[in-house]
Formats: sequence, structure tokens, C-alpha cells
Amino acid sequence: MSLELYDSMTREKREFAPADPARVTMYVCGPTVYNHAHIGNFRAAVVFDLLYRLLRRRYGDKHVIYARNFTDVDDKIIKAARESGEPISAITAKYAKIYSDETAALNVLAPTQTPYATAHLAEMIALVESLVKDGFAYAADGHVLFSTAKYSDYGKLSGVSRDDMLAGARVEIAPYKKDAADFVLWKPSSGDEPGWESPWGRGRPGWHLECSAMIEKNLGRTIDIHGGGQDLKFPHHENEIAQSACAHEGAPLARYWLHNGFLNMGADKMSKSLGNVALPKDLLKKHHGETLRLALLSAHYRQPLEWTDALIEQSKKQLDRFYRLLLETPPSGEVAPPASVVLALEDDMNTPEAIAGLHELRDIAMQMEGEAKTRAAARLQAAGDLMGLLTVEPAEWFKWTPQGAQDQELLSDNAIDQLLIDRAAARKAKDFAKADKIRDELAAAGIIIEDGPAGATWRRG
Ligand SMILES: [Zn+2]
Repeated sequence: MSLELYDSMTREKREFAPADPARVTMYVCGPTVYNHAHIGNFRAAVVFDLLYRLLRRRYGDKHVIYARNFTDVDDKIIKAARESGEPISAITAKYAKIYSDETAALNVLAPTQTPYATAHLAEMIALVESLVKDGFAYAADGHVLFSTAKYSDYGKLSGVSRDDMLAGARVEIAPYKKDAADFVLWKPSSGDEPGWESPWGRGRPGWHLECSAMIEKNLGRTIDIHGGGQDLKFPHHENEIAQSACAHEGAPLARYWLHNGFLNMGADKMSKSLGNVALPKDLLKKHHGETLRLALLSAHYRQPLEWTDALIEQSKKQLDRFYRLLLETPPSGEVAPPASVVLALEDDMNTPEAIAGLHELRDIAMQMEGEAKTRAAARLQAAGDLMGLLTVEPAEWFKWTPQGAQDQELLSDNAIDQLLIDRAAARKAKDFAKADKIRDELAAAGIIIEDGPAGATWRRG
């Protein structure tokens, strides 16, 4: 069994083999912390958390180093600080904490490292200095720019041609650029803008620079896996690749490049600029984090995923099925995740097949009895655990209520039982109008009734 991953650079599925199995390195571009991330941003967090879990299973917890950065210097942050009047450091600390808390609610493990851009200014300035010294970059008008023409492989990852780049840049070519395709490594800061002293005057880094500097400092010159959303391929990852390779005698930045597809809302990609976003902060009030996690894993990570209420609802129902079994049959015995699910996940994280595998494990368990059933339940739980699912106590899962629901007048268990007795009596008396009225009343209170051969049962929806 091998772990196969689709490498965006070579455009093929390749067997993953780390340079050093005792020190497997992965870096994922993290959020710019100036406001709430949307659920589309969380797809990368969940997908690469799954990969982190698979790597840990294969190489051991202590042998995988996973870094996901926080971008805490950026023009969007400066704008947010001006608008709110809050200091930049307060804004970035606040939203980094919110991001960490919200991803944790989706069972995203804390990465081994979460480097901050502003803690790596010395490394960034040194990187730019070496690029200037070797002729890959030039200073102009307080800026330092990278000469893309000096790196022959520029555009290889994204397939964006030089003509495409120039077409994109034609609208407004900054006067300090020698070539429209050049990108900013360093730019001047004025007035209240955050700035650091550098050989080119007081300034701040361009966005792309930080990842190259943080990767070198925290993980090494060439890492095993570099990940991110597919919208980062160009220009962000292209620029990371160019500046790192040129500063490191051509040593590649990463041995495998992985990119996740977009989350769509309606006909478009979910994005802040389009305004069609769903925020985890709101979603987590209405849905359990595990439900959102399963929804994000429901499609293959490289495919687009349509984010809808129906998807969330469907994910909740699937988890209910699994948890119902675990509630009725407490798992027992230490078992490893079953091969069917491991194989699917190690095949370029084929989560749809892995989820189908969970259903199969549940169905098998349902046909068993006694000790065989408790072991089958344990296998289901172990498979779920590998995916960061089925981690809640089953009884707790069914007690979970959306935030705010507690404030409403909740029907007590006894009141619900009494209403069900009244409904059964009404049905027996063929007073269907009354029976339906009781059912509607319970539905309005979020109580789901299930009629079975032994009478009706209920649970909170
Ligand atoms: Zn990056």
C-alpha cells in the first residue's frame, strides 16, 4: 500500500515518498487575519488536516512537521485598522484566535507550527538582499522587484503564459517596474503604515515573500508537500517558487504541490469580493462542526463543491446514522482503521469513496450481534476517527442543539412524551387533524418523530 497524491506541478498522481521519513514536512498557506474567514477558506484547512492525519498514521505523530502561517501584515489589514481604529496587532491577534477556534470546532488539529509573517522580517529582508545581490531582483523607487524573466521555469506550475501575465498587468503598469510581469518583494511604508527598516528604506514585504522566508526558516529549503487553494497557483505559488529557487541555487521549494478546488455558492466561487459567502461563525451556531467537516469532505478535494443547505442537511443525516449505531452498540476493542477506508484515503484522498466505506462498515455492523457487533462498531469509529469524524460521545451528539435554541422555550422530555401519547390516542380515535396538529407543533419545536413498529420515538433535530 502506498500513499498516492496528485502533484499539480507534474500534473499526475504520484506515489508519495518523503525525502526523510523521520521528518516529513508540509506547508499550507494560511489566512490573512483581518476579518472572519468564510467556509470556502476552510476547505483547505480541512483537506490538509486530513492529509496531516494520513501522514501521521503512516510516519508517526512525531515525524510530521506541518506549518500553516498567519499573514499578519497586508494592505487589507492596514485598511481594517484604519476603519475600525483598532491597532493592527489587536486585529490580527483577534482574528488569528477566531480562525484557530473555528477550525478546531471542525476537528482540524493544530498544525505543529503556525508562523506569523511579522516574526520573520529579518529572514525576509535577508532573502531579498540575496536576490538583489545575485541579480534576480532590483530596487527601484523604494520598491524591490523580482525579475520574472530571470527564472526560466516561471509559470510552470499554473501554466499561465507570459502573454497571459502581460495581458493581466496591462491595465496599470507601475512606473517602477522594468517589466510588467515583475512582482513586488518589498514596498515602501509611509506615515501610519507598518514598516521595518531595510537597505531600501522603511518598508514592508509584498505578500508572496513571507511564505518562502517562513518555509526556509521553519522547515528547510526544500519541503515535501506545499498545499493551498487552487486560486493560489498564480501568482502566489508561482512567485514563491521563483524567489525560493533563485535564492537557493535552483533547489526546488517543494517536492509535491497539492491544490484543493473551489467551494461554490450558487453559480460562482464563494469569495468575499463577490459577497456570496457563508461564515463558519454563523454556520457553527446552527450546525455541529463535524457536520460542516463531513460536508466539506463530501466531494473529492480537487473537484469543485457546491455549498448548499441540502448538503449540510445530508451530512447531518449521515452522521446521525453512524452515531445511532454507536449509541446503540458502544464500540469495544482497539482496532485499526479498516483497509477499505485507508485505501480510499491513500488514493489521493478519495473522500467520497471513504465515506461510502463508512456506510458499508455501518451496514455490516447492523447485521451483526453481540461481541462481533461491538467490534464492527469499533471499526466504524476507527475509520471515522482517521477522517476527524465520529469523535463525539454518541449521547452528546444527539443532545447537541443549535446555539440560541437553548434560549427558546424548549419542550421538556416529559412534555414531548405526553404529546406523543396524545397523538397516538388521536390517531386511534381517527382524529387525524388533531394528530397532525401535534406533529406540527413538535416539528416547530425541532422535535423529529419516527414512527416504528413499537410506536413513535423522538429526538431533537
Ligand atoms: Zn504562501
